[in-house]
Amino acid sequence: MKLSFPADALWQQVQKMGAVKAEYTLDSVLKDPPPPIVTTPEGLDVPLDEVTTPGGLLGYDGAQVVLYIPDHGKKIDTVLAQGDKGNRVHIANCQTLDDMRRKKRFQRYRAVVNITGDFEVFGFSMSRNRDVEGKARLQVCINCLKHLNYKGYLTESSRKREIIINSFSLKEFFAENSTLFRYLPTAFTERKSGYTDDWKNVSQSYRTRQNFTCESCRVDLNQHKYLLHTHHSDGNKRNNHSSNLIALCADCHRKQPLHDHMFIKASDMALLQKLRQQQGLLNSNSDWEDIFQLIDPPYEGLVRLYRKNNVMKPEVGYEITDDQGQVIAEVELAWPDDKFAITKSEDQKMVLAKIDWTAQTLQEALYSH
Ligand SMILES: [Zn+2]
Ligand SMILES: [Zn+2]
Ligand SMILES: [Zn+2]
Repeated sequence: MKLSFPADALWQQVQKMGAVKAEYTLDSVLKDPPPPIVTTPEGLDVPLDEVTTPGGLLGYDGAQVVLYIPDHGKKIDTVLAQGDKGNRVHIANCQTLDDMRRKKRFQRYRAVVNITGDFEVFGFSMSRNRDVEGKARLQVCINCLKHLNYKGYLTESSRKREIIINSFSLKEFFAENSTLFRYLPTAFTERKSGYTDDWKNVSQSYRTRQNFTCESCRVDLNQHKYLLHTHHSDGNKRNNHSSNLIALCADCHRKQPLHDHMFIKASDMALLQKLRQQQGLLNSNSDWEDIFQLIDPPYEGLVRLYRKNNVMKPEVGYEITDDQGQVIAEVELAWPDDKFAITKSEDQKMVLAKIDWTAQTLQEALYSH
């Protein structure tokens, strides 16, 4: 079968960038052809029962989507001029969607993989006395930010809340949540090169000098060298002076400014957290601030709520073992004394129930707040 996805062209791009980059950027995207929605810029009108809610977010066919109502009726003239007067864009399975679902009004929603912030809208123009369509810069739904406690929306001051709304970026949001979804928006895979020809060697020798240890979180990656990247501090990929280089693990790297094109696979994130836990860099003795910094972003809002509610600090990246010492689950958050964990999947919950652990999915945990 011939794939319509331009895998060959992408691999050529990747090879130009050097194999080290290729290992973590594109392999999970290239394994399978993406579902149609990923390559459909205008989105699809999808029924609610086909929208999944991993981690309390919105998914369709394994891809992360957002939902909005494109029909603006007689408001359309205003909305085309001022996007912030338009319908809000849902990024999570929030209270508003719950209400709509109960009223069975969900069929009016459109699901789209949109990282630009510009949305197709239509309606009836009173000034022109006919149906019109166009693009509008719609704003994010506040209930969604609350539902996720996004960047601490509920737990921060009102001044900070305003900043969270005004600086909200769909691209950043999609990148942050890559571990919950199988596919990325195709825009994430259109990568620019720009490295010098000797970059591969420069990077290799720099990381060797750093003993394959992340200069930010200090995780030792000697056994998993592909997870250590060399980052250009000034953003200039051709400035390879050692004072401009910094060795960062894939997670610390993606959290750098202007790195919202970078994503991390769930399995790589789980491995990094396990190593940080084993190496004593991230556990219940860590400061809350360190936990916020180093946690996989989908869990950050929940952990901020836990601190606010005086919950004990969790173990992060915890391996749960059975009586025989066999590892049966790796979870992002665990309270071993209480035998309680937050998991990504229902399946994992059932596995844990067999050894008398209680677990909540991330989505359930967000709802219980
Ligand atoms: Zn919402
Ligand atoms: Zn790191
Ligand atoms: Zn970088």
